[in-house]
Amino acid sequence: MFQTTTSKYILPVTVLIRDKDEFLLKCPHCGRIRGIPHETGSLHDVVGESYEDNLCSGSFEISYDAQLVTDIAMVEMQPCTFDSDDGKWKNDDEK
Ligand SMILES: [Zn+2]
Repeated sequence: MFQTTTSKYILPVTVLIRDKDEFLLKCPHCGRIRGIPHETGSLHDVVGESYEDNLCSGSFEISYDAQLVTDIAMVEMQPCTFDSDDGKWKNDDEK
């Protein structure tokens, strides 16, 4: 049921949670929880890096003001653009 995003924007990711050997984040395109590997567990490993989601092919970049949280719910509440092909962020409150 998931589609490939049509957005070519590189969207910022500002909230991540640390797992054993990766950071988990919500893809700002498709809204799925993704993992990116880290070496030391420090955000400095990934800040400023850009990634492409291999599922939706959307690109995102770890923002310079990204922060680590300890509650996965805070990651899940981040907005995503799924279903929006104009690059605007969909408001989750509209559901
Ligand atoms: Zn995605």
